[in-house]
Amino acid sequence: MFFTQHTTRSSAQRRWRAVRRHWCYHGRRSFEAALPAHCIVCSARVFKPHWVCEECESQLIFSTSTHTHSGAQTSATPLVVHDGGLTNVNSFATSLEYSGIARELLHKWKFENQPELTPYLIDLALRSARPWPPVDYIVPMPMHWRKRLERGYNQSALLASALSRPLSQRQCRPLTVLSALKANAHAKPQHQLTREQRLRVAGTRIVAARPLPGASILLVDDVITTGATLSAAADCCRQAGARAVHAWTLTSAP
Ligand SMILES: [Zn+2]
Repeated sequence: MFFTQHTTRSSAQRRWRAVRRHWCYHGRRSFEAALPAHCIVCSARVFKPHWVCEECESQLIFSTSTHTHSGAQTSATPLVVHDGGLTNVNSFATSLEYSGIARELLHKWKFENQPELTPYLIDLALRSARPWPPVDYIVPMPMHWRKRLERGYNQSALLASALSRPLSQRQCRPLTVLSALKANAHAKPQHQLTREQRLRVAGTRIVAARPLPGASILLVDDVITTGATLSAAADCCRQAGARAVHAWTLTSAP
């Protein structure tokens, strides 16, 4: 009797959900047809469910190169990625140049409370055919709890989470997002610091939050400027026992 009632209720719930899905889908389609979406950068009308129009998207500058240590070098040798260097990493890759449209997109995403842009940004990142390093964990750059409270989210954690599914499919095994690092100081935002200040404070802001014995890590951040923060984070991962540390940022400051 119990099982019969349970089955009946479940099937009624399933039917209700299907009806609700149907009306939500068609309601949304009708709404979009009546009020076409607009490009969030230039406000041009877009007739597909896209955030950015084709014209704006065509202005994005994609980066397809991956910086990797040669056999003779070690991970302690700096990788020269632009005007800065990156130490303690096995490889580094970035997807977009931080300028023009990409800069506007990131500004809206980070500072105008639009975390729903994350899947679109990851979609852009995955368009290049670059091979991603085989790793065990995706580790987002940490954010101090006070800053996370102000913003409402850690943008690197959003990227790491959105990246885990497509990378798991590519590697044919589940990848875990691990909060292995902790920001121990609530300093001024990075974009308000000079290059010298960034280099000075980088090593003091991040600590390892858990051991990583023998793990292969992909460090994830939204933008690289001097490389000092990523280098400090990579150093923390190595001290926690990681055997390989790769780094990826969505954008790179030119
Ligand atoms: Zn546009």
